[in-house]
Amino acid sequence: MKPQRFTAKLAEKEVFNEKFSKYIFELEQPHRMEFEAGQYVSITVDEAGDRRSYSVCSNPDTHHSFELLVDHSPDGKGTTFFKNLKFGNEVDAMGPLGKFVLVPDKGEDELVFVATGSGIAPFMSMILNLLQDVNEKRPITLYWGLRYVENMFWENEFQDLVDEYKNFKFHPVLSKALEEWPLCKGRVTDCLAIHDVPVKGCYYLCGSTKMIEDVSELLLGRGVKAENVHFEKFY
Ligand SMILES: Cc1cc2nc3c(=O)[nH]c(=O)nc-3n(C[C@H](O)[C@H](O)[C@H](O)COP(=O)(O)OP(=O)(O)OC[C@H]3O[C@@H](n4cnc5c(N)ncnc54)[C@H](O)[C@@H]3O)c2cc1C
Repeated sequence: MKPQRFTAKLAEKEVFNEKFSKYIFELEQPHRMEFEAGQYVSITVDEAGDRRSYSVCSNPDTHHSFELLVDHSPDGKGTTFFKNLKFGNEVDAMGPLGKFVLVPDKGEDELVFVATGSGIAPFMSMILNLLQDVNEKRPITLYWGLRYVENMFWENEFQDLVDEYKNFKFHPVLSKALEEWPLCKGRVTDCLAIHDVPVKGCYYLCGSTKMIEDVSELLLGRGVKAENVHFEKFY
C-alpha cells in the first residue's frame, strides 16, 4: 500500500514500566491502513511539523487501528510528545513506510530475530504474522536484549507463543542482570554466540547501530551470507 496521511486517535495506553509504553491508535481518516509486518509510521511530534518514526508492533491483520511501542528514555521531542498524549488526542501519521519486512522463503533453514530495546516492536508484528497468520513451520528464534529485568515486558506474551508453537524459541538477554538471573547475561551478541548460529538462516536485526554492527560481524564471520541479514537501525 502507498503511504498516506492519516489522522488517528489515542484509544489506549499501556504503561509497561518506567521506560516502555504501548500506545493503541484508532484510525479516523482514512479509516483503514494496510501494512506489512515490520513497517513503520511517521508521526508529527510538534507544531513545526517535525516527525519521528515508530514501527507498528501490532499484527498486520488489524486494519482500523495500529499499536506503537515507545521507549521513553531518549526524552527528546518524539518521546515527550507521546508522554503528553491524552486519551482521545489526535495524531497526524504518515504510513505505512519502510522496506524492513519479511522476505519470501528462499529455502533458508531458520528465521532468527535479534532486537535490542524498542527494536522488538517490528518483531512482535512479524512473529505474530508468521505464527498466527501464515503458519510458518521453520524454526523461529528471538533474541531480545534489555538492560535490567525491570525493563522487561511481553515476557508472558512470548512465553505463550513458545508454549503454543513448538517452532518458536525466545531468549531474553539482560546486560545488567542480577546474579540469580537464570538466562543469558551480557549483550545479545554474547547470547547468540553461545547458541547455534544456523549458516543457512535468515536473520532480522533491529535496534541500535552498535548491536547491528556487532551481530552482523558475528554472523558474517560464521559464514552467514550478507544477503540473509536484514536490519533496521533505530538510532
Ligand atoms: C525506522 C525507525 C523506526 C523506529 N521505531 C521505533 C519504535 O518502534 N519505538 C521507539 O521507541 N523508537 C523507534 N524509533 C526511534 C524514534 O524514531 C526516535 O528516534 C526516538 O523515539 C527518539 O526520539 P526523540 O525525539 O525523543 O529523541 P531525539 O531528540 O530524536 O534523540 C535523542 C537521542 O536519543 C537517541 N535515541 C533515539 N532512539 C533511541 C532509543 N530507542 N534508545 C536510546 N537512544 C535513542 C538518538 O540517537 C539521540 O542521540 C525508530 C526509528 C526509526 C528510524
